[in-house]
Amino acid sequence: MSGAAIPDAAWAVIGGSGTRGCSFPADAGGKVIEGGLVFKTPAGDSSPFTLFDTPGGKRCLTVPLHGWRQGVSRGEASRQVFHVLAQAGVRRIVSEAGVGSLNPLLDPRDLVIPDDFVDLTTHRDPEPVASGNLLIMRKPVCAVLAASLTGAAAGEARGRVFGRGTCVVTEGPRFESRAEIRMMQPYGDVIGQSMCPEVWMARDIGACYAALYLVVNYAEGVVEDWDHDLLSEIFAEDALTQARIILKAIDAVDDGYGCACSDMRKPTLL
Ligand SMILES: [Zn+2]
Repeated sequence: MSGAAIPDAAWAVIGGSGTRGCSFPADAGGKVIEGGLVFKTPAGDSSPFTLFDTPGGKRCLTVPLHGWRQGVSRGEASRQVFHVLAQAGVRRIVSEAGVGSLNPLLDPRDLVIPDDFVDLTTHRDPEPVASGNLLIMRKPVCAVLAASLTGAAAGEARGRVFGRGTCVVTEGPRFESRAEIRMMQPYGDVIGQSMCPEVWMARDIGACYAALYLVVNYAEGVVEDWDHDLLSEIFAEDALTQARIILKAIDAVDDGYGCACSDMRKPTLL
């Protein structure tokens, strides 16, 4: 269905590779209201969204794989997704992804809820959905949503759970060379391809943002060569756990919570 009316929702889950191995959100107890919702946006038709309620009754929109697909640049996909979320009135966003470890203390199946980022993307067309905002990145991740993800993960995760860490964001879709990883290792703990522009586009539309990252491999040259079979196994076997953590974390958040996110968006001086 192309050109569907964008429904109201306070929450959004931007799915990534971590939940791709299950049917999100139904497999984790989410009640699907309508799926296959393709919306018209100024950046083109969106990926199909699903509207659902969490087990606790919170209304959410979700889109798989960050809205990425063939024939659409990742920057354009993000503009489509965030146009939809802005029009829906979304104020809380949880994203998830599989990431590589830069920090040699991390192992596959560990979970990291990042609190900062370094953006090394180069082709993401960072045109904001809203305009006229000065976006302050002092605390880019919502402390309340991050704490809820950390708490929910503690009861469900198969690996260890880390409630902070810096994500280095690369353009992709290829992985990095050993030399690139050597350069990036001092920058952060994990490496992924989705936190930017999502984290600042969330702030741009006035939404809180937090992410749940599942370590699926060592970055090149870190600890040992990673194994493709293990990576595939983690994506398949841990997807439902990721889905459960996300829905549990959303339901655990008190809707009346206070946080500092709105103070980090000011009128632009330009
Ligand atoms: Zn917040």
